[in-house]
Amino acid sequence: MNLTLRLRYLPLLGLGSLLGCQSTASTSADLVVYNATVYTVDSTFTQAQAFAVQNGKFVAVGSNEDIRRRYKGQQEVDAQGQFIYPGFYDAHCHFYRYALGLRDANLVGTASWPEVVAKLATQRQQYPQAAWLTGRGWDQNDWLTKQFPTKDTLDKLFPDVPVFLTRVDGHAALVNQKALDLAGITASTPISGGTITRDAQGKLTGLLVDNAVRLVSAKIPEPTPTEADAALLQAQQNCIAVGLTSLADAGLNKADIDRMESLQKQGKLKVRLYTMLNPTAANKAYYLPKGPIFNDRLTVASFKVYADGALGSRGACLVEPYADRPKETGFLLSTEKEFRALAKELAASKFQMNTHAIGDSANRIILNIYGDALQGQKDRRWRIEHAQIVTPADMPKFGQFGIVPSVQPTHATSDMYWAGERLGAKRLKTAYAYEELRKQYGQVALGSDFPVEDINPLYGFHSAVARQDAKNYPTGGFQPENALSRPDALRGMTTWAAHAAFEEKQKGRIQPGMAADFVVLDKDLLKAPASELRGAKVQQTWIAGEQVYKQK
Ligand SMILES: [Zn+2]
Repeated sequence: MNLTLRLRYLPLLGLGSLLGCQSTASTSADLVVYNATVYTVDSTFTQAQAFAVQNGKFVAVGSNEDIRRRYKGQQEVDAQGQFIYPGFYDAHCHFYRYALGLRDANLVGTASWPEVVAKLATQRQQYPQAAWLTGRGWDQNDWLTKQFPTKDTLDKLFPDVPVFLTRVDGHAALVNQKALDLAGITASTPISGGTITRDAQGKLTGLLVDNAVRLVSAKIPEPTPTEADAALLQAQQNCIAVGLTSLADAGLNKADIDRMESLQKQGKLKVRLYTMLNPTAANKAYYLPKGPIFNDRLTVASFKVYADGALGSRGACLVEPYADRPKETGFLLSTEKEFRALAKELAASKFQMNTHAIGDSANRIILNIYGDALQGQKDRRWRIEHAQIVTPADMPKFGQFGIVPSVQPTHATSDMYWAGERLGAKRLKTAYAYEELRKQYGQVALGSDFPVEDINPLYGFHSAVARQDAKNYPTGGFQPENALSRPDALRGMTTWAAHAAFEEKQKGRIQPGMAADFVVLDKDLLKAPASELRGAKVQQTWIAGEQVYKQK
C-alpha cells in the first residue's frame, strides 16, 4: 500500500472506532470489492482501493487493509488491480428511440450494396419474427458503384417480408415488391412532391423519394408492447456493456415512461432513468399537478423543449447569417412568446425546463427567457441542451442565472470537419466551448445524444479531453483550449450529470450513502494515453450492488 493512502485513511479508522459503530470484529456486508484503483469522484477526488456495499449502497470506502479488516462480504470481489469509477451517466440521450431503432439494420458507413444485403440477412436472422425488415443509413456515394440500388436482390432474398431501407438523409428509401404491394404502389400510382422511380422499361425499381417514402413508411406498424419491451431490454444490455448505469432520456411521453417503469418494477430494467417530458398538453396536464417524481430508479422532473434545429442542415438559429448561406440565419421552432409562456408556467412548478439550443441566437433567447422566468432563483437547474454556439456576451448568463450546460463532446469531434463552413472562423471559436461553459456554471453535464452518436461514453470522454476523433485527428485537438481536464470529464459523466438531474445526493460518487453503481475498467482514464481511451474495456458493471454485466 502506498504511504499517502495509508495516512489518508488513518483518521477515518480512528473516527470509526471512536464512534463505536464498527467493532474490531468485521461487520457483514453484501459485497466487498478490493485490490482496485477506485476513483471515488468525491469532492476532493479521493482515490481508494476498496469499498463495502450493503443494501445497494456504499457503506465504506478506503484502503484494502481498512475495508477488509472491518467488513466481511457475502460476496468478495478481487478487482485484480483494475480501475473503478462511479457508474457512467449519459446526461442526454434518446434511450427509447435507440431501443426502437435496434430493429433497424444499421447501414451507416456500408461500403457496397452487397455489404448492405449481408447486413440485412444478419438482421433477419436476429429478428426472424419482425413483421418488417427495416434498415437505415445507406449512402450510395460511399460505394464504388455510385448508382442507386434496385429492389431485385431484395425480392429474391426476401420475397415474403416487406423491406424498407432509408437513405442516410432520410429523404429516400429503397423498398422491395412486398412493401410496394402493401402500400398499393404500382407503376401508374400518381405522386406529387416525390418520385416513384421507374427504369427504362417503366418497371418500378423500388427507390422512393420524399413524399413517395411516406406512402410506404405509413404502413410500418408501431411496435407491439412485447416488441417494445424486448427492444428496451436489448438496449439496456448494450448500455451496461459500455458502463452506463444512468440515462437521461430527452423527450418522452407518459406511455413511454409507464412502459419503462413497469419493466423496472418487474426487476427487468435495472438502469436508472431521468426522463425529460415532451411539453404536450397531455403531459403537462398529468405531471404538473403531481410535481416531480423521484423514485429509486426513475426521475421525472423536467420538460424538454426544442428552441431550434441542427447546424448541419442550417436549422440552427444564428444571430448573424450562415457563412455559407449569406441570406439565411436559421429559425426558431416556436415563437419567443410561446417559449416565454412555457417558461413562466414551468417556473411556477417544481419542474426543470431543458431546452435544446444550438445556434447563438437560440441560446441567447432561451438564456434571457430563463433569467426572466426564474427571477433570481439560482438552483432550479434549468438546462440548455447542447449549448453549441454561444456568443461571448451570453456566456456569463449560465453562471448568473444558474443554468446547467448539458453538452455532448462527440458533437464537437463529429462536426469539426464542416462546422467552420457554416460559422466562419471567428464564430467557430465560440462553438463547442465546453471548458468555457464549465467555468461559467462551475460544472457541465456530459452526454452523447445517442443514437445520433455512439452509445459508448468513453468516446465522449476522449472527445472531451483530447478534442480528437476516433483516429486521433486532428493532432493537438480541435480548439483544444476548450478541452475539459480528465477529472472534470469524469465528473461530467458521473456526479455533475447527477447534479443536473437533482440526483447528486443519491448517486454519481463512490462514497458512503450513495447508490452502489460502479464500473470496472481495464484502463486508468486519468493516466492512459489519449489514444487508448476509446479502447478501454468495461470489465464489469454494477447497479445498486448487483453485477449486471461482466465481460466474457
Ligand atoms: Zn437529443
